[in-house]
Amino acid sequence: MSYVAPLRHMRYLLKDVFNAKAQWAQMPAFASLDESTMDAILEEGAKLCADVIAPLSRSGDEQGARLEKGQAMTPEGFPKAWRQVAEGGWVGLGGDPAYGGQGLPKMLTVLFEEMLYSADNSFTLYVGLTAGAALALNAHGSEVLKKTYLPKLYSGEWAGAMDLTEPHCGSDLGILKTKAVPQTDGSYKISGTKIFITGGDQDLTSNIIHLVLARLPDAPAGPKGISLFLVPKFLVNQDGSLGARNKFAPASLEHKMGIKASATCVMNFDGATGWLVGEPNKGLAAMFTMMNYERLSIGIQGIGCGEMSYQNAVRYGKERLQGRAAHAIVNPKEAADPIIHHGDVRRMLLTQRAYNEAGRAFAVYLGLQLDIAKHHPDKTLRDKAEQRVALLTPVAKAFFTDKGFETCVLGQQVLGGHGYIREHGQEQLVRDVRIAQIYEGTNGIQAIDLLKRKVLANNAEWMREFIREMEQDVMSQNPVFAAEEDAVLEACALLRSLTFWLVKQDKRDADLCSSSACDYLHVVGYTVYAWLWLRMLAANPENTEEHVIGRFYFGRLLPQIRSLDKAIRSGADLVMDLPVEKF
Ligand SMILES: Cc1cc2nc3c(=O)[nH]c(=O)nc-3n(C[C@H](O)[C@H](O)[C@H](O)COP(=O)(O)OP(=O)(O)OC[C@H]3O[C@@H](n4cnc5c(N)ncnc54)[C@H](O)[C@@H]3O)c2cc1C
Repeated sequence: MSYVAPLRHMRYLLKDVFNAKAQWAQMPAFASLDESTMDAILEEGAKLCADVIAPLSRSGDEQGARLEKGQAMTPEGFPKAWRQVAEGGWVGLGGDPAYGGQGLPKMLTVLFEEMLYSADNSFTLYVGLTAGAALALNAHGSEVLKKTYLPKLYSGEWAGAMDLTEPHCGSDLGILKTKAVPQTDGSYKISGTKIFITGGDQDLTSNIIHLVLARLPDAPAGPKGISLFLVPKFLVNQDGSLGARNKFAPASLEHKMGIKASATCVMNFDGATGWLVGEPNKGLAAMFTMMNYERLSIGIQGIGCGEMSYQNAVRYGKERLQGRAAHAIVNPKEAADPIIHHGDVRRMLLTQRAYNEAGRAFAVYLGLQLDIAKHHPDKTLRDKAEQRVALLTPVAKAFFTDKGFETCVLGQQVLGGHGYIREHGQEQLVRDVRIAQIYEGTNGIQAIDLLKRKVLANNAEWMREFIREMEQDVMSQNPVFAAEEDAVLEACALLRSLTFWLVKQDKRDADLCSSSACDYLHVVGYTVYAWLWLRMLAANPENTEEHVIGRFYFGRLLPQIRSLDKAIRSGADLVMDLPVEKF
C-alpha cells in the first residue's frame, strides 16, 4: 500500500484552524516550539511512515506474528524498522524530557500517530503500547522506577505492554483475580493469567516492561481492590544491565481477524517479580490517568485507517473505467469513463473524506485540551480542559472508530470485487480497523461511560457548558457561512434538548441509559464534527476545496442526528420488552 501523509490538511489544522503557535506560546513547556520545527516533524514523520513502515504492512499481514520455542517473533522487516523508528526518537516523541523524552505537544503528536496507523496498524501498536506504558509510569511510578525504566522506553530500547484482561473479565475489571504477594525486599510476586495482551512478547526489543493489574492479599473486593505493578521480562540489575529472566512467559498467540503482525499473547505469570506503581488498591485510577491518552490514540487508529482507505479508493476511482458518467461522456476515446464520475462513487469518497477530516480536527482539538490540562500555567484553564477531556474522550474513541470502520467499508466498496480481494489492501484495512471498536473498552462501554458518568452523573452540567461553548464559538466565526452556522446551532439545540430529556427520563427508567448510550454518543459525535467543520470553513474562506467537502458534511451526513434523536426518544421498552428466553 503506498501512503502519502495528508500534510496539507494537517498543516491547515495546526496553523489556520487551531493557531498552534499562539497556543504553544501560552505554555512554557512548548514556548520555544516554532512552525519550522512543527513542519520538519510532520515531514520527517510522513517520510518514515511512507518509506519504512507502509511497505511492511502487506507482508506483515501475510506472515503474521508467531511463537517459536516460547518466544514471539514479528514478521520479516519489523525489527529493522523498529530500530529506525527508535533511533529517530519517535517512540518518545511526547515523552517527558526529564527522562529522555522529546516533550512535544499532543496536538502535534496525534498527527504523527495518525500517519503511523495509516502506514500499518500492527507495527504502530508496539509503538503505542510503549508510549502508553511510559505515560502511566511517569504519572504514578516512584523516582527509582522512572529513572530505571523511562529512558529505555522513550529510546525504544525496551517496549511496554499493558496487562489488564483475564479470561473471565474484560469490561468488568473489578472481578480480576491475578494475585500480588508482598516480599520482604519491597517487591511482589505476581501470579495469574492474562489474555489478549498486545505485544506481550516480541523480538523487537531486549526487554519488555509489563504494567499488570493485580490484587493484594488483603485487598477489598471489586474495582477498589486493584493495584498496578511493573513486571519486566528481564530483571534489571543496579547498573541498568539485564539480569535473570522473570517468571512469566507467553503461553500462546491468538489467531485473529486482523492486526495479524501484532503479537496478541496469553501471558502466564508464575510468581513473577514486580514492583508497585502508585498506591496500593489505586491501580484502576492509575490506569485511568493514561486511559484518556490511550483511548484517543486508539480512536486515531480509526482515522488513520480511514485515510489510507480513502487514498486507495481515490487512486482506483480515477483509473477504473466502467459505464458512462450521467452528466456527459468524460472519456470519449475510451469505452467507458472513470468511476469517480458516478454520483454513487463520489458519495462514498466524500463520506470518507468528510469523516476523516473532521475526525482529524477533533483529534487535534482534544490533543490541545490534553496539553492545556497538563501544561497551562492558569489553573482555571487546566481544570476546564481536564473536564473537556473527560467528557469528550469516550466520544472520540468510539466515534472515530465507528466512522473509521464505516469509512474503510466504503473504501472497499469503491473497489467493487477488487476491494474484497487482497491486491489493493482494502480488505486488510477493514479487518485491521475492526478491533479498534472493541479494545481499550468496547464502544458500547465508551458510550455508557459518556452518558452515565460524564453526563447524567452531573445533571449534564459538563455537557451544557460544552454546548454553550460551541454556540458561542459559532457566533464568533466568519459570517460568510450563515447556512452552516444555522445548522450547527440547530444541532446544538437538538443535543441540548435530547440531553435534558435523558436526564429527566433516566430517573424513571433504569434501562434507558444503556439502551440509548450508543445513539446518544453518535448525536454528540455528529454535532462536534459539524462545529469543527464550520471552524475549518471559517478559518479560510478562500479554501474552496474544504468548502465543498464541508457542505457535503452538512447536507448529507449531519441530518442523521434527527433520526437518532427520534430513535432514542422511542424509549427503552422497545429494547427490553422481549423476554430473554424468546431470543
Ligand atoms: C486483538 C486484541 C488486543 C487486545 N489488547 C489488549 C491489551 O493489550 N491489554 C489488555 O489488557 N487487554 C487487551 N485486549 C482486551 C480488550 O480490551 C477486551 O477484549 C475488551 O475490553 C472487551 O472485553 P471482553 O472481550 O472480555 O468482552 P466483555 O467484557 O465480555 O463484553 C462482551 C460484550 O458485552 C458488552 N458489555 C459488557 N459489559 C457491559 C455492561 N456493563 N453494559 C453494557 N454492555 C456491556 C460489551 O460492550 C461487549 O459488546 C485486547 C483484545 C483483543 C481482541
